Amino acid sequence: MLNISNYNNRSIATVLPFNTFDRTWPRLAMGGDAVPVGSEGWVFPQQYTKLGQYESLLSADDAIVGSLGQFGVKAELSEPGHIARQMLEHLGGLWGVHLLADIETLKLLNKMAGGLRRKSNDADTIEETFELRTAPLKDWTDLISARKARRPLPRHSLEDFTKGNVIRLGLETDCPHCSAKNWTTLTGVDYRVTCERCLKSYDFPQAALREHNRNFTYRVIGPFSVPDYGRGSYSALLTLRVLERFNSSTNEMTFSTAMNLSFDGVQREVDFIAWRGDDRLGRENRRPPQLIIGEAKSLGQGELITAGDLAKLKSVAAKLPDAVFVITVLREYFTPAEKLLLERFVKWGRRVNVHGEPTNPVLLLTAHELTMDHLLSATWKDLGGSHALFADYEHTRTLLDMADATQQIYLGLPSFHQARREYWDKRLARRKAAQNGEN
Ligand SMILES: [Zn+2]
Repeated sequence: MLNISNYNNRSIATVLPFNTFDRTWPRLAMGGDAVPVGSEGWVFPQQYTKLGQYESLLSADDAIVGSLGQFGVKAELSEPGHIARQMLEHLGGLWGVHLLADIETLKLLNKMAGGLRRKSNDADTIEETFELRTAPLKDWTDLISARKARRPLPRHSLEDFTKGNVIRLGLETDCPHCSAKNWTTLTGVDYRVTCERCLKSYDFPQAALREHNRNFTYRVIGPFSVPDYGRGSYSALLTLRVLERFNSSTNEMTFSTAMNLSFDGVQREVDFIAWRGDDRLGRENRRPPQLIIGEAKSLGQGELITAGDLAKLKSVAAKLPDAVFVITVLREYFTPAEKLLLERFVKWGRRVNVHGEPTNPVLLLTAHELTMDHLLSATWKDLGGSHALFADYEHTRTLLDMADATQQIYLGLPSFHQARREYWDKRLARRKAAQNGEN
């Protein structure tokens, strides 16, 4: 018997759905023997009790794809999914995502990002190319000091961003022929520089450097140069970071970044998918891992959450029953129009299941939670107001408790249990009234 834990390599699946009724998947043991996965852990056939069985562990992506296949859903990483995964590789996994947990940092990164931008409507996709923008040294040193002033811990330095291959230093010079600004990497710079726009060459301005080292500038690189907040990757990764560590228990989670799901002739993109170990206390109460589906929005003008988004999630729920939905925005609130839509969606999700709990719990997160430092309870306590009312242990211990708390904070709904009580009280009152009428 084996309980899997995994602290440094997040690309290995450590949480899998239980396969009590169908052992044909996953094939974890060598030789492809069926391995029971349940509340006791993973039970390997006796001959494979040595560490050698690690060779046959699934990658997180394969685990997600395989588990969804069991529901008749074909899943594959989408383009934003690839971008988010590359970011994770640079940052060293979800732990490293704390570097991005700051809205001003994301705004600066987004300002610097360029490349290809796609705008789609129902009929066409328009592609526009934007040049990457450079940022002077000072923009970044100012950002880091402002970040430190806002929050003394964790201490981030500029080096964290260069080491994580988020930004890279280079030299900017002005072309004397066409006035274009050229940015050259430290390995690419030479005494002669070729202009990227007019293709003529000119001398590096050795005697005419800008004051205050202003020839040294930063550029975003790799996945961080993708526009529109890394095509939504920042908010998806920050959401996964909250799911992994909102309370002090280190709940294991197997996740994948954005995927295209195909089923019954339709395609639906979701911003992440995760299997998260059940967080009820005590092994005897432990239920199968929870499937989590994410819809993560970035910053932007107007409404970020639309009726179409929620209809998409409902169609996914029809195929993946009992899924928990996590809906996030990178601003600190939901708009009145979004609240109306979400209220209806949350009430739909509260349909009672066999355990007397909501069938599709909905967790609502904003920039407040996505940029939290350490524990959600501490963040909510510091925020005060309605957040502080839910800062205690009982509202932040499990995913379901937290979902219920966020529905009360952001939508002003009664708690799930209060709503159930009101429902039964009304039924009782109606029955009594009917009985009295008969007498
Ligand atoms: Zn030029």
